[in-house]
Amino acid sequence: TQYVYRFGGGVSDGGKGDKNLLGGKGANLAEMASIGLPVPPGFTISTAMCTRYYEEGERFPDSLRDEVATGIAHIEGVTAKTFGDPANPLLVSVRSGARVSMPGMMDTVLNLGLNDATVEGLATGSGDERFAWDSYRRFIQMYADVVLELDHGAFEEALEVAKEDNGYYLDTELTAADLKALVGEYKSLVEQAWGKPFPQDVHDQLWGAVAAVFGSWNADRAKVYRRINDISGSWGTAVNVQAMVFGNMGDTSATGVAFTRDPSTGDNAYYGEFLINAQGEDVVAGIRTPQYLTKAAREEAGAKPASMEEAMPEVYAQLAGVFDTLERHYRDMQDIEFTVEKTQLWMLQTRTGKRTAKAALRIAVDMASEGLITREEAILRVDPMALDQLLHPTLDPAAVRDVIAKGLPASPGAASGTVVFDADTAEKRAAAGEAVILVRTETSPEDIHGMHAAKGILTARGGMTSHAAVVARGMGRPCVSGAGTLSIDAKAKVMRVGDRSVKEGDMLTIDGSTGEVMAGQVATVNPELSGDFTTLMAWADGVRRLRVRANAETPLDCRTARDFGAEGVGLCRTEHMFFDAARITAVRQMILATDEAGRRAALAKLLPEQRADFAAIFAIMTGLPVTIRLLDPPLHEFLPHAEADFADVATATGVDIDTLKRRAAELHEFNPMLGHRGCRLGVTYPEIYETQARAIFEAAIDVAEQSGAAPIPEVMIPLVATKRELDLMKVVVDKAARAVFAERGREIDYLVGTMIELPRAALRAGAIAETADFFSFGTNDLTQTTLGVSRDDAARFLGTYVDQGIYERDPFVSIDVEGVGELIEIAAQRGRQTRPDIKLGICGEHGGDPASIAFCEQVGLDYVSASPYRVPIARLAAAQAAL
Ligand code: ADP
Ligand code: MG
Ligand code: MG
Repeated sequence: TQYVYRFGGGVSDGGKGDKNLLGGKGANLAEMASIGLPVPPGFTISTAMCTRYYEEGERFPDSLRDEVATGIAHIEGVTAKTFGDPANPLLVSVRSGARVSMPGMMDTVLNLGLNDATVEGLATGSGDERFAWDSYRRFIQMYADVVLELDHGAFEEALEVAKEDNGYYLDTELTAADLKALVGEYKSLVEQAWGKPFPQDVHDQLWGAVAAVFGSWNADRAKVYRRINDISGSWGTAVNVQAMVFGNMGDTSATGVAFTRDPSTGDNAYYGEFLINAQGEDVVAGIRTPQYLTKAAREEAGAKPASMEEAMPEVYAQLAGVFDTLERHYRDMQDIEFTVEKTQLWMLQTRTGKRTAKAALRIAVDMASEGLITREEAILRVDPMALDQLLHPTLDPAAVRDVIAKGLPASPGAASGTVVFDADTAEKRAAAGEAVILVRTETSPEDIHGMHAAKGILTARGGMTSHAAVVARGMGRPCVSGAGTLSIDAKAKVMRVGDRSVKEGDMLTIDGSTGEVMAGQVATVNPELSGDFTTLMAWADGVRRLRVRANAETPLDCRTARDFGAEGVGLCRTEHMFFDAARITAVRQMILATDEAGRRAALAKLLPEQRADFAAIFAIMTGLPVTIRLLDPPLHEFLPHAEADFADVATATGVDIDTLKRRAAELHEFNPMLGHRGCRLGVTYPEIYETQARAIFEAAIDVAEQSGAAPIPEVMIPLVATKRELDLMKVVVDKAARAVFAERGREIDYLVGTMIELPRAALRAGAIAETADFFSFGTNDLTQTTLGVSRDDAARFLGTYVDQGIYERDPFVSIDVEGVGELIEIAAQRGRQTRPDIKLGICGEHGGDPASIAFCEQVGLDYVSASPYRVPIARLAAAQAAL
């Protein structure tokens, strides 16, 4: 097998289709080289080698030595330099690169190949002694940090001391002699901490770095990142070895990062930052404040230092040409790294750029309009879950803001929460249900778990392409970066700005769209959805087959759902109406009644209230189907607990408190989820379902008379296991309908159906469909009863179960396709066999989960029903499932 793939100098052994083998970075370097872009030559050691390396006890096979030698020879041939040659040394970078970009991976090592001899050759060859020694000191520092894993504090301190001793402010003020002295110090620091001298053999350096890249695949932070992002541990990483190009060779050299479109807004404008006379990660690390790429961006920000467009117009023009080539070639927005060495442009990386939901929409719609992609591709380009970012509230423009600092608008959206200063605390407090804002001087890959747990991220340092900004945008977390006036003392858990201080636990609000940082909590408003969102959703609606309804019972939720495009209500949970504070006494009276007469007396009080509830929903959903589930939860959930509550019921009913308490005790159940609930209530107390059915039909006729458009009630019986249960309940509902229709002299269409939420019901669906007009899969209970896992108690072990690969994902979030899914398939098929036009829908949490929606499409359900804020997500996911 071949493990080494070359690129550059007219050769490309791989291409963009080889991401699994070469990693994203390696595949795209080869691709860029093959389309004629300027890429420094190099080679990629494949991910297959990483797998083999671990299989063979973290050792390299001998054959790899020969292959790497061939790779080095390739670079030497193209560059006319020789690795380790003191007269004309080749320097390389060693870069990790997995299939998908992973901030948990090893940092890049630059300038590898320098030692006490080659540094002299580099100085002579470049005619720049300062540059040579600067590169050497950077190399030792990086190698010590990422390969030898020595504490980098001591190296930074030595650098600071060197500057202070000479009265310098910037790194760039250090002279060749200063740097030479610093290199000496660095070398002794390495020897002290590592116990051996800094490796002078360039081949030892190279193999050390390669092993470190492979080793980083199993570092803790990489594992955390993989767990959060569902990345398989078996993929492995590739290693890229590439000829160095130097952005630190004076004022005609530079390094930068760019996006071909604005990753925040999606605007079709180049977007990026660069630094003159700098190398590698200087831009991202926030060592100096980077300069803007374009003149327009600089002017808009009111910044002084010249943009690249102004400072290096010719190279800039060439770079802009590369952006266009890359976009046309990849047909997507690209995230690019480049270096300019003495006015010569070099491309060091390209990948599909991470973007906010807003930008994803804008870019997809724009590119379809530009003819770069089709509408179908545009629909597939937007992650449905990302829409969530757009649907949630933003800061109320009218609200009072106590702005204490301003940073860069690094990732849009507003977030309020209590301040924490480290990732572990963020994770802990968030797990306890607290909204937290993670505040750091700057973030690093070690902070990923805390960033994930936080509602928002605030940093004092770093630009728009800093680690915090890039990761936050990818996660959809609001982020303000580079709020330079903040002074953060993470140890003391306090930050200061001017004469104010904010402690851990204080409330803070950040606005990632403006960069504002505010003390306290600021009021929010609902977003207005228009423009690109409307356009893309209309395209999605045009291709989807599944209808999308909402789980909603309050007028507010129904309104929201309709505004978000719901095509009816798939689940109206009537018990929510029973919990209403104003009615609870009547509800309790009903439950505690000892006979039918007592229950009917209480129900008579509830009837007009229920009728009004349903009328409000029907009015909002005119002409659309509304599925109303009759009372489902065990009665004891409504029982009074406090003495005062018992007293209220006693007053209302005239029954003494002791009798009421005895009755309450009788209602106790050991396993209420499998107890006296669902249609079992209707079977034992038919007057409850009768009253609810009456309220539904009266309300439907009221609305039909007022609006002229009759609603279409779908009366749903919960927790049915047998056909007989449904038969009995259907008689009750039909009887109520006939009674109301006779009284009102008007009829409306309605359906009676059932939830399929017990395995027995799924298996007996053929028989149940003789009575049921529709099935709605109640996948929360169906998952619970199929797996025999209580969803209220599952948290304790589900995490372990997912980690152990027992479940691929939390089965309460995404349908267990193999088990629960098979039951759904069986029920759908048997139901249709009996009643070909039976309506099939899903109303569990899964109705808003894109993977589960894809499953519903595959089984051929008619609709999914999701919570209101999930409706747009479901619309888009349904369209993607249909494509
Ligand atoms: P990451 O995956 O963290 O972005 P990279 O491997 O892309 O790491 O390297 C980080 C930075 O190092 C790049 O932005 C680039 O500026 C610099 N770099 C990498 N390889 C070279 C090289 N051969 N010549 C010059 N700079 C390089
Ligand atoms: Mg890095
Ligand atoms: Mg990179």
